[in-house]
Amino acid sequence: MGLLTPTVALKNVTDITPELLKSMGVDAILLDVDNTLAPPTDQTPYEGVQDWINLIKQSGFAVVICSNNFNARITPFSQSVGLDCVAMSLKPFPFGFNRAKKKLHEKPKAVVVVGDQIYTDVLGANLARMQSILLEPRSDEKGFSIWLRRKMEIRIRKKLYQK
Ligand SMILES: [Mg+2]
Repeated sequence: MGLLTPTVALKNVTDITPELLKSMGVDAILLDVDNTLAPPTDQTPYEGVQDWINLIKQSGFAVVICSNNFNARITPFSQSVGLDCVAMSLKPFPFGFNRAKKKLHEKPKAVVVVGDQIYTDVLGANLARMQSILLEPRSDEKGFSIWLRRKMEIRIRKKLYQK
């Protein structure tokens, strides 16, 4: 298992069930926003996401949003879906994950990072020795850096789905 390999790969965040999380032994989730919960330019979550967040919280999991995007984008979004957040988290570096973990009310036994990017969400989780769930990006982002990262991700994703 390399630093770019997630623990689990799924299509959408709503595919993550309480049973899966229990089987992974985790009790806390650090959640990405853009292309995971909502389109990068939109404050409205994807269909089913609000119900999924409610289900996961009701099932006893601690959830904190951890995004590299700015406060002005992430704070109002997090409030609207009823979650605490860390913005500008600098994934894949551990600073934001550590800040997010402090926002969990109880000390977690084990944390899983959920997101759509290998070079931020998965790499960050592995560097922090946490588990990860990689999702498929839901919308097309424009710009050179995301284009390059997606291109670099294609080979890794292909390997994952061969398993
Ligand atoms: Mg994302």
